[in-house]
Parts: sequence; C-alpha cells; structure tokens
Amino acid sequence: MKQVLVLNSGSSSIKYQLLDMTSHAVLVSGTLEGIGEEKSKLTHKITGAQTVTTEQVVPDIAAGFDLVTSTFERNGGMPTELVAVGHRVAQGGDKFTGATLMDDDAIAEVESMASLAPLHTPSNAAGIRLARKIYPDVPQVAVFDTAFHSTMPARAYRYALPTEISERLHIRRYGFHGTSHGYVFHQAAEYLGGDPSALKMVTLHLGNGASLAAVDGGRSIDTSMGMTPLEGLVMGTRSGDLDPAVVLYLQRVGGLSVDEVDELLNRKSGLKGLTGSNDSREVCAMAEAGDQAAIDAMEIFSYRICKYVGAYAVALGRLDALVFTAGIGENSVEFRAQICAGLGIFGVKLDPERNAVRSGEVRTISAPDSAVPVIVAPTNEELEIAQQALAVATAGH
Ligand code: ADP
Repeated sequence: MKQVLVLNSGSSSIKYQLLDMTSHAVLVSGTLEGIGEEKSKLTHKITGAQTVTTEQVVPDIAAGFDLVTSTFERNGGMPTELVAVGHRVAQGGDKFTGATLMDDDAIAEVESMASLAPLHTPSNAAGIRLARKIYPDVPQVAVFDTAFHSTMPARAYRYALPTEISERLHIRRYGFHGTSHGYVFHQAAEYLGGDPSALKMVTLHLGNGASLAAVDGGRSIDTSMGMTPLEGLVMGTRSGDLDPAVVLYLQRVGGLSVDEVDELLNRKSGLKGLTGSNDSREVCAMAEAGDQAAIDAMEIFSYRICKYVGAYAVALGRLDALVFTAGIGENSVEFRAQICAGLGIFGVKLDPERNAVRSGEVRTISAPDSAVPVIVAPTNEELEIAQQALAVATAGH
C-alpha cells in the first residue's frame, strides 16, 4: 500500500489528507483553523473511526504542525507507508510549470516569490520546511495552483503594460485553481469517452473563489484569474474585474489607504459586498424571498460568467462541453440554471430535472438536444495533488 499525505498550509489554517494511492481512499483528514487567533480548533477525522476535536491556542504554523503531529500520535491514523508528501502551493510564478520535488534550492525559489502572493507563499513554504523535518526521508513535492495555466500563450497572459516593467516586476497573468481545472477536465473527458487531446472545454470552478478556464486538449489556453486571484469573476468576497482606475479613485477621492483598498476588493466585495453574505445559499434564499439586492447580485455574478464563456468559446474555436465544479458549481441548482439561461447563443439547453439531481458523481445536466453538453464534475484537488506528488516522487524508480 502506498500512501501520500497532502498538506495545505495557509496563513491561518492547516488542512491535511492521508490517501491510500491504490484505492484512492481518504484514510485520515483534518483541518486546523484559527492559527494566530484567540483560539484554534483542530478536527482530526480517521475514516471509519472517531473524529477528534481539539481546541487550544496555536500561535503559529510551527505550533500547528506540533499539534497535528501529536494528534496523529495520540489518536491514530499515522502514515505507515508514506511515499510522498504533496504540498499545495498557491503561486509558482513563471519558474514552476509543474509539480516539483522540493530541495533546499527549490524551497528558496518558492520563498523568493513571496511578494507575488504575500498572504500564501510564506506559510506554504513554512509547511514544506516543517514537513521535511518530520519526514526527512520522504520526498516533498510542491503542486502549484498556477502550474496548469503555464501553457497559456503570451496573448492571454500578458497585460498591455510597458514590457520592461512587466518583466522586472514579474507582472503577468498566472491564473489559479489549476489543479482543479485540470482534474475536472480529465474527469469530464473520461465521462464523455472522447480523446482528451481532441476536446475543447470551458471549466467553471465556482466556489468562494471562482475562475473559468478555456482548456484545449488538456492544456489551459486562458483563465479568468490574473496576476492574483482578484481578477475575473464576481466571487464570494472579491470584486473580480474592475476598471483599474477605480483603485486610484478609491484612494484619491475615497480616502482609502492601499491596505484598505486591498481589504475592500478582496474581502468585502463580491456577493458579500452586494448582499451582505458571501454564501451563495443565503443569496439564493434572499433572492427567492424577493430581496432586490440578492436578485441583482445573482444576475451580476451570472452575467460575468456568461461573458467569459463567450470569450473562451472564441478563444477555443469550438465548445465540446461546459464543466461545473466546486461548491457552487457542484451544488447550486439556481446558479447553474441562471448561468445556462444566458448561454442560449451556443444552443445550451439545461434539463431542469437533471439539474435538480444531487449527486457526488460526474453527470450531465443538459437536455439531450443541447448543442453543448453541460457536465457537473466534483473536484478533488487533494487526490490530484496526491497523484502528481506520487508521480514526481517515483519518477525514475
Ligand atoms: P472554497 O473556495 O472556500 O473552497 P467552496 O468550493 O467550498 O469554497 O464553495 C463555497 C460556496 O459553495 C459557497 O458559496 C456555498 O454557498 C456554496 N455551496 C456549498 N455547498 C452548497 C450546497 N449544498 N448547495 C448550494 N451551495 C453550496
């Protein structure tokens, strides 16, 4: 039995999964939230056995790793045949175009890009260093959210800024959620039974963070997030696309500081800014009850997505499938219906009964005579990270 431990070390949380790579079963999963806050909570779940919850103060990520390790030791679920640790890393810049074995030089390279993702990179890198101390003989592999989009052509990833400035400051579109876009493209291709290299799809990852990707034969040719996850769609708390002059106006006329604008656009905008809630379920319920702000928010959210699908259909030249995934994409009957209603130009026709089905399986929600099949494919970023980590760890063996 081969096992891979998947780690997502964030600024205030550590998420982990231990997977059996033969059956793909999750053996242990856990989340430690609230690192650096007044109280942190760890939930450690051993499949088929008990779930342990611990609450205590966890001042930093190192203390978080200590707590997770001691919880494994005390409550069971310890890896017995660990062949790799797969780390989710948000930003791979223009250096990392695929999953990479993390030695001293590679970790330093990840850390050198901290200014591109100051919220994520320091904790991602710290997680790799800490896991290396705990498992010095197990390959540590970084899987980057950006890597899948490294195949974008220059016309898609460049901004029209002076070249010297873009190059000096590494300003370009990187895209995120790559692990998920790649995973659901292949899930949908397998489901449709076609040759993946011949399929052109738009994948819609709609969670709290949200992005679309134009995927041509398994390669990303465009995606809606940019240099940071702020660009593109309306999200739970992010504005997505804006006239960049709004940022200047907020400072010059609105009197906001740089940090306040950052906070406003990343944490107080999107569905939350429009309705007061970033939870799509609450927004739907409010809209159903006739709340005009919620009705408008759903339209703004869906219209933005439809515009991107139109743009990506042009980029791809043909649309073989639309693939919904993540919290909203997998579950929200209402949002999927509203988005598909805006795509009549492509002959998209939703089947309301199929759309209403709740399931964890890959499934079709479009009508038999829809010109483009609409698929729901549950994402599984942990499994994809584990598979990529295993492939890198065992390459050449
Ligand atoms: P994250 O980006 O934090 O991983 P998720 O992929 O979990 O986010 O998506 C969160 C969003 O998914 C929220 O807007 C939430 O309302 C929505 N969501 C989650 N489960 C359901 C559900 N069963 N029905 C409708 N919406 C759901």
